[in-house]
Amino acid sequence: MPIGTLVHEKTGDPAAPYRLLADLAEVGSRVLVARGGRGGRGNARFASSTNRAPRRVEPGEEGEEKDLKLELKLLADVGLVGFPNAGKSTLIARISAARPKIADYPFTTLTPNLGVVGLSGDRSFVVADVPGLIEGAHRGLGLGHRFLRHLERTRVLVHLVDMSADASRDPVRDLDTVRRELELFDETLAAKPQIVAANKMDAVDATDGETRIAALAHRAAELGLPFFRISGVTGAGVPELLEAVWRQLAAHREAA
Ligand code: GDP
Ligand code: MG
Repeated sequence: MPIGTLVHEKTGDPAAPYRLLADLAEVGSRVLVARGGRGGRGNARFASSTNRAPRRVEPGEEGEEKDLKLELKLLADVGLVGFPNAGKSTLIARISAARPKIADYPFTTLTPNLGVVGLSGDRSFVVADVPGLIEGAHRGLGLGHRFLRHLERTRVLVHLVDMSADASRDPVRDLDTVRRELELFDETLAAKPQIVAANKMDAVDATDGETRIAALAHRAAELGLPFFRISGVTGAGVPELLEAVWRQLAAHREAA
């Protein structure tokens, strides 16, 4: 089973239909979920000097049967969050060998993508692109609720905010909405270190683009979050963002 698999057993109790049997969080984690039955003895075991080919056999006993639910929780260091189309898949494709589907319509990504990001000097970390976050995700709207739980094990969250002119979105509102979804889903998610990346800087509107960026930078400062301007398409600002991610991870490691 892949690392990060949670094994739940069905209980038959409507109040608590499943109970956690095991959390296979590490390489080599093992769990015995259902003991096999004692095997029966075959005919060779009944052979004697007078009966060398006995017909007698003994049936084995039944093994245990269990109704299990397997749940995969990704083990990524960093979660990329943002509205559909914010450019998460594009960024993960740029910074890692992952090749997720990229398209300008929402919900292109139906499964979380994982990518390994390598930095100079043997440094690396794993990024997950968490798709489908929209307002109401915590209570099951869109696809976000299926993926939000994957963020539970990440150590840093990077907010990607679409700054492009044609998006005609309010970047501050986008950031606040995603942060609220995280908080409503699980307060410990919202308490993780976060970084704000203003994305698609190559496509910012000439007239009010700077105002929108300044507003987002201001909001990030209010929240005490590091702020970066990047473009997943051109790569501008991306190395600086990755170094900041690394610093957060390193600080986290030291604290642990
Ligand atoms: P996701 O839904 O967050 O995974 O977003 P995608 O990576 O699939 O990108 C959505 C759309 O935005 C696609 O058409 C991308 O080509 C476009 N896009 C992503 N990043 C950038 C960027 O940095 N600049 C520009 N101009 N377009 C981008
Ligand atoms: Mg995507």
